[in-house]
Amino acid sequence: MDESYQPQFYDVDDEPHGPRWLFVLLALVVVAGLAVGGVWFWLHRDVRVTINGRSVDIMYHSSLEDVYVASGVVPMPGDLYSISGNLIEAGGGERYSIVLNGTPLSDAEQQAYRIEGYESISIRDGGDVTEDSEVVERVAPPLLVPPDRVRAVTFVRQWGVPGVSRVQVGSISGEEILVEVVQEPQNCILDSVNPVPSDGRKVVVLTFDDGPSSYTADILAILKEKGVRATFFCLGSSVESWPETTAAIEAAGCEVMSHTMNHWNHYATTQEETYAETAEAFEVLRDYAGINTTVIRPPYGNWNEYCWRSSGGTMSASVIWNIDSLDWELPGAEAIIANCTTGVSSGDIILMHDGGGDRSQDIEALSQIIDKLREQGFEFITVSELMASDYRIPEEVARQYAPMPEGYEWPTEVAE
Ligand SMILES: [Zn+2]
Repeated sequence: MDESYQPQFYDVDDEPHGPRWLFVLLALVVVAGLAVGGVWFWLHRDVRVTINGRSVDIMYHSSLEDVYVASGVVPMPGDLYSISGNLIEAGGGERYSIVLNGTPLSDAEQQAYRIEGYESISIRDGGDVTEDSEVVERVAPPLLVPPDRVRAVTFVRQWGVPGVSRVQVGSISGEEILVEVVQEPQNCILDSVNPVPSDGRKVVVLTFDDGPSSYTADILAILKEKGVRATFFCLGSSVESWPETTAAIEAAGCEVMSHTMNHWNHYATTQEETYAETAEAFEVLRDYAGINTTVIRPPYGNWNEYCWRSSGGTMSASVIWNIDSLDWELPGAEAIIANCTTGVSSGDIILMHDGGGDRSQDIEALSQIIDKLREQGFEFITVSELMASDYRIPEEVARQYAPMPEGYEWPTEVAE
């Protein structure tokens, strides 16, 4: 044995490469690292799927969107349509549709799906899509049904009541489609007649427009002396100036109705102006003279269904005339008498004036007009009495004051 041989003993503490437990720990870390890495690589491995018959390698757990992008297949998107079938946006529909292993997938299923491997995917053009919609209730307003022809007295035959319908409303287009009529509206119906007493009486109505004025008292005096009752269509602007005279007309047994506020031509006014001219005149008659009426004589006789619409339910009747005295031409008392007493039929309404100019010829003519018509067998009544005498005019509106009853609605559109 070589003397030089010296067995060497190492103390554990002298170990140059560190203690043994450190080896174990390092080994564990390496093993764990390898395991984690292995799992990571396993999870990030590529798998094979077929899309439209082509094989594509794609990472495990990819989305279908990823497969679609990786495949290079370019399906055409569908279009977006409104509820009534109008194109809202070309290409705004479904982007594409996917059939997975023979089963079509909904959008949500497409979103949620993750690739496992070996799927057979078929991607096709997107379908057309209709916008979202909801069904809501709509109030169907009543329409205004005009008379077939305008005669002396136009009146509300039937007040309007709204109906209810259910409509489908497109969320993007705003289009509305009628689904169901829950309740039909009741239209507001106007009618127009030349009233004649249903009992065969022979009657005539004297009417005076554009007052009150300084001439009104003289006319009232003649009517009183003759025992005649007439109807005065007063201008709101004149009533404000002559409130006592206005009240005196009714005190004399005559009747006051409205000639609107300012004598405008309502074929040339806005809806708002027509409403104001009508409604304010009724208020002025009530506030200045204590007179309630819902009947007008339109200035110049100009009042069509659109004027009626603008009146907003403040009116019950519009009254024009059959016989024109033509007193505004100042033709002399004899001509006025002839105009008012020639060719008169029962139920005729005669137009004269107690304001708006020099009315001395009317005052001069009035007594003889009354006498001559009486000689012809006529009885003098007022406009509301004439309306009440004709069975064709409903009792509820054959009055000087017949406001729209509770529960009804005035139309905002004229029936075509
Ligand atoms: Zn007038």
